[in-house]
Amino acid sequence: MQNIDWANLTFGYHATNYNVRCYYRNGQWGELEVSSETSINIHMAATCLHYGQEAFEGLKAFRGKDGKVRVFRMDENGKRLQSSCDGIMMAKLPVEKFEEAIKKVVKLNAEFIPPYETGASLYIRPLLIGTGARVGVSPADEYLFIVFVTPVGPYFKGGFMANPYVITRKYDRSAPLGTGIYKVGGNYAASMRAHTEACHGGQYACEFYLDAKEKKFIDEAGAANFFGIKNDTYITPKSTSILPSITNKSLMQLAESLGMKVERRAIPEEELATFEEAGACGTAAVISPISRIDDPETGKSYQFGDGKPGKWSEKLYNKLRGIQYGTEPDEFGWITVIEGV
Ligand SMILES: *Cc1c(COP(=O)(O)O)cnc(C)c1O
Repeated sequence: MQNIDWANLTFGYHATNYNVRCYYRNGQWGELEVSSETSINIHMAATCLHYGQEAFEGLKAFRGKDGKVRVFRMDENGKRLQSSCDGIMMAKLPVEKFEEAIKKVVKLNAEFIPPYETGASLYIRPLLIGTGARVGVSPADEYLFIVFVTPVGPYFKGGFMANPYVITRKYDRSAPLGTGIYKVGGNYAASMRAHTEACHGGQYACEFYLDAKEKKFIDEAGAANFFGIKNDTYITPKSTSILPSITNKSLMQLAESLGMKVERRAIPEEELATFEEAGACGTAAVISPISRIDDPETGKSYQFGDGKPGKWSEKLYNKLRGIQYGTEPDEFGWITVIEGV
């Protein structure tokens, strides 16, 4: 076990021992390889560097109260990576190979999995990049898949808390028929300016996007899906330009099992005024409750509840975290226990 101040870790890169790699050459994926190198050696004309042939994933491993190590819905991440690869014409990694790589990298870095009491976890970052050399625009013929891990601290250091968000009308993250549904680096490059301008003042937790075509409907926050709650109903946007969040998908299932109604449909901005609770959801925080959404360009501001997390948000959050840490039964079969760590 490493001597790390787990509870005060940030969401940053903390060195671990090993990463796992797999190369696609001559039309096929090779064997998984273990590396202790943090750098990669690729051709300067690699398509990932010039034309953005890059996709990534993000998931976590949790040390439970019972000492077991659990990974949450990694098959879903494996399938989503395949969809991203399809979307930007990269070789698809078989889901079994993806899962094998996750298990391997977690096992190899077992000493970096934070203890249960700290609320910290082991963040797992898979990425897949085009490494084949191309000068003209076309998909690469060689690819590299890497998974590394890094311990990250608890998202809510001062306890579960609500934060203000801000609508950005000046910039779009993704077009209605663009790559917003894929987890690719290009979407993040497109959001850097919006994110920096909106959030680096420290006033807001994150920028918030409307649909790019009409600027009328709620899309999502920078790296998290949106949901609103009213009349015991969980409402989340249906849009062709948002990333299908696995957390959101899970929350919809949990909401139903807790007796809520679930709606997935277009949400006009004005409807924000009617929500009793709102949240941003994703692997990083599970739920980041939203206290307020400001729309500075129209002068509108939408407030949710009394500035504290709402009762449904708290219930959903506790349920999902409980499943991840093994204190709630895994009734949907979402958990893979990593044996031998
Ligand atoms: C990764 C991501 C999310 C959250 O997805 P999870 O699977 O819940 O972690 C939401 N929006 C964007 C743009 C993302 O990249």
